[in-house]
Amino acid sequence: AQNQLLQSEKMASIGQLAAGVAHEINNPIGFVSSNLGSLRGYIEPVFGLLALLKRLPANTLPEALNTELARVDTLVDLDFVQEDMPQLLNESEEGLSRVKKIVQDLKDFSRVDHADWQDADLNAGLDSTLNVVMNEVKYKAEVRKNYGALPPVRCIAAQLNQVFMNLIVNAAHAIPERGTISLSTRAEEGWVCIEVADTGSGMTDEVKRRIFEPFFTTKPVGKGTGLGLSLSFSIVQKHGGRLEVDSEPGVGTRFLVWIPIAGDAGKRSDSQ
Ligand code: ADP
Repeated sequence: AQNQLLQSEKMASIGQLAAGVAHEINNPIGFVSSNLGSLRGYIEPVFGLLALLKRLPANTLPEALNTELARVDTLVDLDFVQEDMPQLLNESEEGLSRVKKIVQDLKDFSRVDHADWQDADLNAGLDSTLNVVMNEVKYKAEVRKNYGALPPVRCIAAQLNQVFMNLIVNAAHAIPERGTISLSTRAEEGWVCIEVADTGSGMTDEVKRRIFEPFFTTKPVGKGTGLGLSLSFSIVQKHGGRLEVDSEPGVGTRFLVWIPIAGDAGKRSDSQ
């Protein structure tokens, strides 16, 4: 339990670090983005003009200008620049918007502005988590969503996002070649249920019995720490909820996260 606590503090500080970095990067991204726009505005007409001058008959231009044009043309091929420049600028702007999107996803995921108990939309939490892990998941699985209408849930959203992330990444890891990950949500009598199901390798009863133990992993050294599910279990418990698993070897696995809508003040189930 002590280990789990330390680990959960460590995860929390990693979340804070990610959020801090995202926050710090935001301003420079803004500068670079607007400077890039200005540079495009300056550079494009100037090179357009140079390329035009180069195409004029030499005898229509003063000697000094011809010499200067020839000098510039040996430094940068003006025809090439004119063709290449829009592409370079477009690629830079696209790259920048990808960085912006990643930073936004990280901010949404770590909920930097709401680090504590809050009334949160868990469908939105599931989506922002999916955004963060999608790059890893998309090679393994098609993700199907079936979200029901959920009332706001009293929770520490950043921590529940951590649970969703562990479940989604585990689901992807369990899929040998290609498969499906289904995310479903529903509300039921004071509780919400978030279901993460995969068509992966499933688990034997022996593995299933041990998955919530800290450091239990069936993954190769370096790939698994065995901490994801034990940490998820304690986060769900802290919310007065339940974490259930259903699995069949060769068929797949289904994790159910039950969270009381009223948070840890809600009714607590004794069955685990
Ligand atoms: P890790 O992922 O680092 O191994 P976890 O605590 O998240 O640690 O998971 C423990 C073990 O539970 C995994 O090594 C794996 O054997 C099993 N497991 C977890 N999720 C799944 C899943 N969706 N399908 C099959 N096995 C799973």
